[in-house]
Order: sequence, then C-alpha cells, then structure tokens
Amino acid sequence: MRLYSYSKLSTYETCPQKYKFRYVDHLPSLKGAPATFGIAVHKAIADELLGKPSNILNLPMEDFFRAKEMVDSATEISRGLGEIVDIERRFAYDDGEVEWDRGYFRGIIDLITKVKGGLGVWDWKTGYKTPSVFQVSLYAYYMQKLYGKPVEKMGYVLLNTNSILEFDPSFIPQAKEKEEWLVKRIESDRNFKATPSEACSYCDYIDSCTLNRAVTEARNNIEAVKLYQSILVQKESLKKQQKILKGYVDNQAIDLGKGKVYSVELEPIYRKKKGYDFDTLIRELAMKHPELIKFDNAGLYDIHPEAFSVIQKKVYKER
Ligand code: SF4
Repeated sequence: MRLYSYSKLSTYETCPQKYKFRYVDHLPSLKGAPATFGIAVHKAIADELLGKPSNILNLPMEDFFRAKEMVDSATEISRGLGEIVDIERRFAYDDGEVEWDRGYFRGIIDLITKVKGGLGVWDWKTGYKTPSVFQVSLYAYYMQKLYGKPVEKMGYVLLNTNSILEFDPSFIPQAKEKEEWLVKRIESDRNFKATPSEACSYCDYIDSCTLNRAVTEARNNIEAVKLYQSILVQKESLKKQQKILKGYVDNQAIDLGKGKVYSVELEPIYRKKKGYDFDTLIRELAMKHPELIKFDNAGLYDIHPEAFSVIQKKVYKER
C-alpha cells in the first residue's frame, strides 16, 4: 500500500491500531456532525470566493448562523491573503503530479495565493483543536513541487476565532523528513499496537480495540489489575515528561522562529490567539529538537524511556 495523506500519517501517529482498523482492515468510520458541518462550511467558502452562490441552508438551524458567520469572515480573511491562485486544490504526487489514485501522497489544499516572492498556502479550520504545523508544512512542500515556486507564507484560517495562525516556512523540510520517517514506520510495522491516549474518547473503533476488549475480558481478574497498574505507570511517566518539557520551555524560552518565544503557561486567550497549546508545542519541540523527543508507537505524547533521560540530561545541562 503506497498511497499516503496527512490524515493517514496523523492517524498512525495517534494510534497505530486505529490506523490498521481504518486503512488496512477498512472498517467503516462514522462521519459525525462536526465533519458534516466542516464540509458544508468549506464548500460554501470556496463557492463565495469563486463567485458562485453558496448553499448552507441544508444545515440544521442551530448550525446555520454559526456557519454563515464563519463563511463571511473566512471569505474576507482569505481575500486579504493575496491574489487567489487556486481554491480547494486536489493533488496527488509521486515523481510529479499524477492521477488521484496513483500518487504517493495526496491531499486537498483549501487556498493558494500569490504572495511576495512566491506562494501562500492556507487551510481553513472549523474545529477547536489547534491545527498542526506538520499538515500545512507538508502541503506546502508539495505545492513547491507542483508550482515550482517557493512557499513564502503558510498557515491556517481559524474560523472559530476569525484569526490566522501562521507558521514559518522553515518547517517545510522538517515536515518532509517526518513524513518519510512515518512512512518507513508504517511500512515496517507488523503489530500496529494500540496506544491509548485522550484520542480514544473520540475513536470510531473503540469497540474493536484490543485494549478495550482486553479491559472487558480481564475485568475482575489479575489481568485487569496489571492493566490498571500499567496505565498508572504510563500516566506518571506522562506527568513527568510534561513537567520537564514545561520547565524546559519556560526556562529556556525556546525560540521557534521569527523571534517568537512560546511558553506552555501562556494565558489561554493568548494561546488561542497564537494558536498554541501544549499538544502543538510538543509537536514543534519534536520537530525543532528531534534529539529531545523520540516518537514511539504511543505517538507524540509518549516519549521513549531512553529519550526521557536524554531530555533530563539536556535540560539540566542547559540550565
Ligand atoms: S480506542 Fe484508543 S487505543 Fe484503541 S484503537 Fe482507538 S485510539 Fe487506539
């Protein structure tokens, strides 16, 4: 199987077993209300920008006004991002642009604009979750290949806050490296381990999950106790990692580009404005400081035990 997308890579990153259920076993996933809402809003923004009549009237009444507000403001913000080159650009890429089903990597980019010195690459986001630098950087990489021009600006139009979350294009090569690293892991993975995290609460495959089944089967016996203990250990380890990373960020004032300094303890409103939360921060630390954070099957939050001591040494050495 050699057809990747951001969604595939991020699913694997979240949980290899979830990836297996969705992309290897092809178990159906539920397209819930948030997805339907997002699709309708994306289509309406694209229509507005193309000067076509947009239709969000088929949304339920409680969603209609919110959608309308988002479409109006996203249209205005998008028009300010430069001359429009393309809208909802579908691409499939291998050693050049190929048919949709034949690419190595494929995706849809919401908006491409002309900016000073090259291109602007933008995605519209309707959700509350802070979008990842990985996605837009990877899309920017492929746009550079397709258009033969550098991407000078890239980021997200956050429709919930009517704001722009911009990233430095210096992330592009790192995103490509991360993509290749993830693809290698996917292609050599034989176990597709379940890696529980907060994402389990909205996982479509919770009923099929081996971990969930193990909990059910092991209830009231020694296995349940072992499982419970291992979760406690994992929780403790995560707490320690969080503390160390927080200390590292707060004390070292990590500069992630453009002279901006980020801290995990920023006021929520500031964080929202800048679009940074702890999750994003960890992702960026992993990209900026790959020697500090190693990925394992547990995904971004689960730092490999060996890397944990490296972080500790590094943090204390730098203090
Ligand atoms: S419920 Fe959690 S651990 Fe199980 S497959 Fe889904 S994300 Fe993975």
